[in-house]
Amino acid sequence: MVDKIPLAGVIGSPISHSKSPQLHRHWLKTYGIAGDYIPMDVAAHDLAEVLRALPKAGFVGVNVTIPHKETILEIADLVTDRATLIGAANTLIFRKDGKIHADNTDGYGFVENLRSGAPEWRAGAGPATVLGAGGAARAVIASLLDAGVPEIFVTNRTRVRAEKLADDFGKRLTIVDWVQAGNILEDSALIVNTTSLGMIGKPSMRVPLDGLRRGSVVTDLVYTPLKTDLLAVAEDAGCVTVDGLGMLLHQAVPAFERWFGKRPEVDSHARAAALR
Ligand code: NAP
Repeated sequence: MVDKIPLAGVIGSPISHSKSPQLHRHWLKTYGIAGDYIPMDVAAHDLAEVLRALPKAGFVGVNVTIPHKETILEIADLVTDRATLIGAANTLIFRKDGKIHADNTDGYGFVENLRSGAPEWRAGAGPATVLGAGGAARAVIASLLDAGVPEIFVTNRTRVRAEKLADDFGKRLTIVDWVQAGNILEDSALIVNTTSLGMIGKPSMRVPLDGLRRGSVVTDLVYTPLKTDLLAVAEDAGCVTVDGLGMLLHQAVPAFERWFGKRPEVDSHARAAALR
């Protein structure tokens, strides 16, 4: 009997904007793996039924994205501690025993991107500032705490959302009022934008940036455009800047490896494939 061709994909709604299909297909082609990666637009009320059916068609796993990243935790049979702490999953493995295993690789992707874009960055170098307190901020904070960052200033337009993060992640988080955000930049070795500010079609970054100092590392999760206004100002101030596309590439590495049995390279070809 010939084995089924392994299939993976990404489930969200809408899904046409996703860069993951071209990235995974690039890796499949590069490594000569017979398989495919398919974008699937699935409504919330169909999600559980679709997920139970996919393994029967040869799917070995899928990525999940907006709006399913949180609700998937209730559908999955096994959830990693990391995904539970973050409160969301982005990667599912369909196990041979029929169980759906959910993990979150966003934090891994964030730190790997940071380490490769700013190799001189050290977790112990000083406090980090995280702008925003949404789903992406939770993954970023979990990974920074894990990496050993001593203190994280979190600031968000809606303060109560940041306070919830402090409840969940503990004493190394200090909540700062959104109107004070500009004042903490000077003392931060790392500044991370996890809000959607600066993205094409969204409002521009409003935090005053004159506190940015030479040598700090500044990274933006927004990658459309690749060079956001925040990164442009940081570059002019002499900061080390890291764009957000690499996070998308790196978060895909553990998923591809688990589904297709090969650890893929994040290189200029993978980057170009995602941008295609
Ligand atoms: P989310 O849960 O909806 O959170 C959005 C965040 O942006 C919240 O902190 C929100 O503040 C803030 N925000 C939105 N509009 C604002 C405004 N006008 N003024 C001030 N703050 C505003 O979204 P998410 O999943 O965390 O994603 C956030 C961003 O990260 C998106 O741009 C997403 O594309 C990007 N992202 C990138 C990657 C990557 O691989 N590079 C991965 C994940 C996410 P409030 O709480 O006050 O609403």
